Amino acid sequence: MTLTNRILLGMILGIIVGILFNVIIATDPDTGLPVTAWGAWLDGVLINGFLDAVGQVFIKSLKLLVVPLVFVSLVCGSAALGGHSRMGAMALKTVSLYLLTTAMAIALAILVASLIQPGEDVDLAMATGFSAIEAPGLKETFINIFPENPIQAMADGNMLQVIVFSLLFGIAISRSESPAAQNLQAFFNDLNTVVIKMVLLLMHIAPYGVFCLLVKLFSSLGIDAVLDLAKYFFTVLLVLLLHGLGVYGLLLKLLSGLNPLIFFRKMWSVMVFGFSTASSNATLPITLRTVENDLGVDNKVASFSIPLGATINMDGTAIMQGVATVFIAQAYNIDIGLGGYLLVILTATLASIGTAGVPGVGLVTLAMVLNQVGLPLEGIALIIGVDRLLDMIRTAVNITGDAMVSTVVAKSENLLDRSRFENTDKKMVDEISKE
Ligand code: ASP
Repeated sequence: MTLTNRILLGMILGIIVGILFNVIIATDPDTGLPVTAWGAWLDGVLINGFLDAVGQVFIKSLKLLVVPLVFVSLVCGSAALGGHSRMGAMALKTVSLYLLTTAMAIALAILVASLIQPGEDVDLAMATGFSAIEAPGLKETFINIFPENPIQAMADGNMLQVIVFSLLFGIAISRSESPAAQNLQAFFNDLNTVVIKMVLLLMHIAPYGVFCLLVKLFSSLGIDAVLDLAKYFFTVLLVLLLHGLGVYGLLLKLLSGLNPLIFFRKMWSVMVFGFSTASSNATLPITLRTVENDLGVDNKVASFSIPLGATINMDGTAIMQGVATVFIAQAYNIDIGLGGYLLVILTATLASIGTAGVPGVGLVTLAMVLNQVGLPLEGIALIIGVDRLLDMIRTAVNITGDAMVSTVVAKSENLLDRSRFENTDKKMVDEISKE
């Protein structure tokens, strides 16, 4: 069996086994603890013991590669591109497309949610037990892009700061004419090969990692919460699907003429990673590798656009925030008007820049959006119960958006290897399984 199929199998089995555990382990409704001894064993030793340990080690290993990969790959990309006069234009195109797709995502979310009206008949008594967390202000978010200490930026995993430092470093290499700088560039290229090899090695355990993560998640997911909030849940899901498949497919076709079906086929296993980890950051090594190797995007474009996208481009998150705003406004019977919704589009687009690619942050920045239009922050407590599952799905959309924009920019800059894009046999993950 190819590695892609094994990863898919890991996902499907993980979901099935997780739901099965969820159903068979009877829990006390008050304490939430298992009532039988074997239930307690399954829960404590197997699910929260062994499977959780393997899942956590898997996520840690993915995260381990993020900073070295982004640093090394982006130094290589910007060093190769430094003298290239297109660099500014390319960066502008990437950022503009990121902002545009996010604004489209949230507008679509508000439109669909206004039609479906998910917030009708909501029991406001459910909105308890949530204390708002302070969202970062716009000024701080901006200042925070610039590092004062590269080592600290790397140690904190502050992606925007690492990106700025790596870009400067790479440009400086390309602008220094000494042979030492050329040696350094060659060294970074060699290092890049080694770091990518580490990503490939990690892929071997991916099916097991994905399985363990999903069993743990689905065994503890409150299915009842989904039923209670079915209208909200399915509205977010519908918009995620419309945007993730429809809008991205259309944009890819219109802006680059490439076949969306090939794109989705190659991105499928990356989406499974996004879904299982609920983190754009943790998925980054896999996204970058797939975009370069399978979609044929040149390293000069991918090494910049993919880490940047994992940090600032969160269309799926913006969709959740759009639907959530409409939902909360309806639940509290507050009309924020057209002006209010336009403000939501603006704030949620900016909030998505400030949302780090880690699980659950979208809810924190939702506070910023609600604040802007004067909606009660306690409303977040209404949707928190289904957020974990939605987080997984929206993360898959977030990373697909990054890959789509990267592909479009590469095509427009003549930095896309079309034969590689169209070659459906040469999938990275499948290649490794044959190694
Ligand atoms: N988990 C999301 C991501 O990493 C962010 C969020 O919506 O909370 O892309």
